[in-house]
Amino acid sequence: MTKNIFKREALIAQLQQEKNWDVLIIGGGASGLGAALDSATRGYKTVLFEQIDYAKGTSSRSTKLVHGGVRYLAQGNVDLVREALHERGLLAKNAPHLVSNLSFIIPNYKWWGTPFYTIGLKVYDILSGRLSFGKSFSLSRKKTIQKLKTIKTDGLKGGVLYHDGQFDDSRLAINIAQTAIEKGATLLNYFKVIKLTKNTNGNTNGVVVLDTETNTEYTVFAKTIINATGVFTDEILKMDDAASKNLVRPSQGIHLVVDRSFLPGNEAIMIPKTTDGRVLFLVPWHSRVILGTTDTLIDSHSLEPKPLEEEIDFILANANEYLNKNVSREDVLSMYSGLRPLAAPKDKSEKTKEISRSHKVLVSDSKLITITGGKWTTYRRMAQDTIDKAIQVGQLTKRPCATKDLQLHGATLNKEIINHLSFYGSDQDSILKMVKHNPTLGEKLHPNLEFVKAEVVWAVKNEMARTIEDVLARRVRVLFLDAKAAIKIAPLVADIIAKELNKDDAWKQNQIESFRKVADVYVLKH
Ligand SMILES: Cc1cc2nc3c(=O)[nH]c(=O)nc-3n(C[C@H](O)[C@H](O)[C@H](O)COP(=O)(O)OP(=O)(O)OC[C@H]3O[C@@H](n4cnc5c(N)ncnc54)[C@H](O)[C@@H]3O)c2cc1C
Repeated sequence: MTKNIFKREALIAQLQQEKNWDVLIIGGGASGLGAALDSATRGYKTVLFEQIDYAKGTSSRSTKLVHGGVRYLAQGNVDLVREALHERGLLAKNAPHLVSNLSFIIPNYKWWGTPFYTIGLKVYDILSGRLSFGKSFSLSRKKTIQKLKTIKTDGLKGGVLYHDGQFDDSRLAINIAQTAIEKGATLLNYFKVIKLTKNTNGNTNGVVVLDTETNTEYTVFAKTIINATGVFTDEILKMDDAASKNLVRPSQGIHLVVDRSFLPGNEAIMIPKTTDGRVLFLVPWHSRVILGTTDTLIDSHSLEPKPLEEEIDFILANANEYLNKNVSREDVLSMYSGLRPLAAPKDKSEKTKEISRSHKVLVSDSKLITITGGKWTTYRRMAQDTIDKAIQVGQLTKRPCATKDLQLHGATLNKEIINHLSFYGSDQDSILKMVKHNPTLGEKLHPNLEFVKAEVVWAVKNEMARTIEDVLARRVRVLFLDAKAAIKIAPLVADIIAKELNKDDAWKQNQIESFRKVADVYVLKH
């Protein structure tokens, strides 16, 4: 029998054996996981700690687009868009099971709209170069209505169709984590960094980390430490220097998830200018439609940020401006909120600036490296820049980045999405084998949802899931697709996990209660 390299006990044993790592990463979102993969593929001894679960933070709460950012092009940010379009192309090649080519339509209600956006999107096409997803073109009013069955037709002049990418964010996070482990890195979820250690020169040389499952503390030493904690960045910077000024201020973006009948075709809608001058997307995703997002400055961050009433009203009102099928609060199956780190103002006279659109790699006096900003689409490039910096700071033997053509775990030549198991890529066969061997595992978790019991077993055995929430939020996405259904099936999922992890009834009860509390934030009360 082959050894299971994703088993927690095996990963903890690796942690105990190694006494001095080359690269230690704090945070298991897109930034941290990307850095772990880049570092491991260059042959450095790499360890990563995530306080909760991979992609528990912003990285499971995106709009699910792998994109250059049409909005940034309109702002004249050409270099950023070119880089993101290049990365979009690489990601589509390296994770074809998770990234798909999606057509977006900008509906136009003004005479100048069609020529204006057609020209702009031609520039977008050109910037994607060899890695183009397909040409954009204008659509007549008739064709726009044919493609978008629910679009408001009053005053509609036509549309412009362009291509961009779409993905499953937390599944990509898990696949990156698996690839990093396959390349020799040690990654642990439910390991919270609580302290930084320093050498006699005052340079950071390690961390104290708590295994929150067993309450065991470890002191772990490394040549370089990377802070990749998103909106939690300042907490780590304060562990380094209690007097450090805040670097980030969170801005919230929420999404509402509704039934596919609101957008039954294969195309997404991009609204280029909402009432507050931002863009709004209506995107088919799995078996639902995502509407989002907002941009609301908030004072503090949390692990489960809550959508504000005015954000919910804003999205519903703006979507209804464009849909002939009215979407109301009762139609919302789930809602979720993500936080972007903005650059905090240096003093009262300065305003917050968005740093999330281009990433920054900073080095503190203590040699702690911080990676902040950027977007999911550019995670690979961000990781390359971060590890280049780590080589310099930690005086590691220089080795070139090796992720440009690196296929991620699950990558398969068969790109066709036949059913929801296609998102597992090459793992799909193993899941089907489990069902063949034990047909009860082929039973659905909920009558209205496609997911089956075998996926829960798979998530625990091979994808490092430890809790109901890990499974239902970030492995099979039920919480994001239908929050009430997720609450309903929590006891069934608890039973399956408990059997796999050998847990008792008290554990199950505790799990169901904790999950309920989290899931409540995703339910929109009428
Ligand atoms: C609303 C919204 C929509 C977006 N949509 C898109 C999109 O469609 N496409 C796109 O490309 N990008 C999108 N982005 C951007 C993208 O989601 C983010 O850039 C990315 O997810 C940030 O990842 P991160 O790893 O930096 O942060 P996070 O994902 O927040 O990860 C930080 C991690 O650090 C962990 N951590 C914190 N403290 C500790 C500690 N002490 N010890 C151990 N671990 C710790 C946290 O638990 C967390 O998991 C969107 C962002 C937002 C806010």
